[in-house]
Amino acid sequence: MERKNRIHSILPSAVILLFAVLSFAVLGYNCLRMYQTAEQSRQHIQLLQTENDQIRSELEQTSSILAEKDAQIQELQAIETALPGMRDQYYAACKQLEDAVLAGTTDKKIAYLTFDDGPYEATTGQYLDVLDQHDVLATFFQLGKTGDGDDALYRRIYNTGHTIANHTYSHQIKRIYSSVDAFISDVVRNRTFIQDKLGITTNILRFPGGSSTAGPLKDGIMEKLREMGYGYVDWNSATGDGIALASPEEYRDNVLNNTAGRSILVVLMHDYSNVTLTALPEIIDGLRAQNYVLLPLFYESTMVNK
Ligand SMILES: [Zn+2]
Repeated sequence: MERKNRIHSILPSAVILLFAVLSFAVLGYNCLRMYQTAEQSRQHIQLLQTENDQIRSELEQTSSILAEKDAQIQELQAIETALPGMRDQYYAACKQLEDAVLAGTTDKKIAYLTFDDGPYEATTGQYLDVLDQHDVLATFFQLGKTGDGDDALYRRIYNTGHTIANHTYSHQIKRIYSSVDAFISDVVRNRTFIQDKLGITTNILRFPGGSSTAGPLKDGIMEKLREMGYGYVDWNSATGDGIALASPEEYRDNVLNNTAGRSILVVLMHDYSNVTLTALPEIIDGLRAQNYVLLPLFYESTMVNK
């Protein structure tokens, strides 16, 4: 009885104690969990800060690279904007030299090297290499040709500083010389083709086969060409590569041995000819040895018939 009473008196205290112990245990467990969570958060924050620092430094690097590239783009754009003006200034200087040559106030002579019917994937690039190596600007009378390789060639010819001129789109002699309209529509087609490709409008033309090929159509064609702002160029010198296969030496001599009495030469060549390609360095050197300055054609030249 007495023992029972003791149990009765201890029990509430024991229960309270048990609850207290349990509460402490739960509290302790929660505290531990919170401490662990806080520690994990600290580690996560550190990781994020490290990552952010990295990103920030990469961003700073990228920004400085970006600023550098932007400056380069601006510089190149300025050159591109100035280029048409530079071309005009250069042509004005060419015109002055041409006037002096014609007036006989200089002992210099002028040779306009012209290449017809291209561009040719297989050979035109090699022609451009030879011209580059000899610091020569020339004139390319181009047809309308499509294809990635051709696109790059058109751009290279123009961007190097050579003159790009119109030689009709198709060069199909029978068809284009069937009427004035047939000829003009082929010219317009090629003008648009080159405009789309390079953003430039050609103003010099060469009749396929030469202007005499137009026969009785020539006057009618010329009237339209003038309205469109075109002048045309024939030639007074040729390697002969459009007609017969001969040796490079014969092609060279066809040009170098037929200069007597000509202070301005327009030399007809075709950039498909491997023989002319072989002869070209000696043609260039030989003409320079005869006091010829090699220039690209320009609309105001006296050799451009208007
Ligand atoms: Zn031709």
